[in-house]
Amino acid sequence: MRFDVLTLFPEMFTGFLDTSMIKKAHEKGLVETSVINFRDFTTDQHRTVDDSPYGGGGGMVLKPDPIFAAVESICEHEAKPPPVLLMSPQGAPFTQEKAEELAHHSRLIILCGHYEGYDERIREHLATEEISIGDYVLTGGELPAMVVMDSVSRLITGVLGNHSSAVDDSFSTGLLEYPQYTRPVEFRGHRVPDVLLSGHHQKIQKWRREQSLLRTYERRPDLLETAALTEEDRFFLRRLQEKKHS
Ligand code: SAM
Repeated sequence: MRFDVLTLFPEMFTGFLDTSMIKKAHEKGLVETSVINFRDFTTDQHRTVDDSPYGGGGGMVLKPDPIFAAVESICEHEAKPPPVLLMSPQGAPFTQEKAEELAHHSRLIILCGHYEGYDERIREHLATEEISIGDYVLTGGELPAMVVMDSVSRLITGVLGNHSSAVDDSFSTGLLEYPQYTRPVEFRGHRVPDVLLSGHHQKIQKWRREQSLLRTYERRPDLLETAALTEEDRFFLRRLQEKKHS
């Protein structure tokens, strides 16, 4: 996977790229990142990247020319242009499903906005999709870009030491993940559930599935509408519902 990130603040990526999983992914050669300051693609003396909006109003708008030039230079030798992801609070909500879909690409271009946002022509004629990381407004697209890069990278085979840790993650199964415990068996009077100490693989699997269902039912019932559920899952959920209403 190669990420080409277009930003006015490349320094924001330094700590991120130099830490933990994403650092290791780069060291293993599984991920490559190029952080590009699109100010370098301006052609005027003042290296202008923004201008006031037509029609008036406050704030500044990112100009199309440097961003188009930066993306075109990246795609110059690409037979099939990679997706161009526009970070935007107006985009489609970012989900695990979207991360999984993006992880199938070998290259992604990520555009980080700033100020009041982008000239609409960037949206319409350059970006292939708009992604929002939530219903709130940030100062720039850098943090959203890091969110996308992190969640996509950890899905690439070989990036996580133990692949099953991504397979069981919340949302990957359509449900929230079950509770996890580690040593000590008893901490301040609170014990690890006996089933996890039993060594009985099937019972542990059943307990985990039920805990996932319970947790999802309590915290994110909306996910149950689309999760792949077995007859046994549905029976368990019906019992939960009956208990609630009794
Ligand atoms: N005026 C814009 C609007 O109302 O849609 C908001 C601009 S915001 C201050 C500046 C930039 O931060 C955006 O262009 C985008 O790149 C990024 N940004 C802010 N919030 C975001 C979010 N929730 N998800 C993704 N990107 C976001």
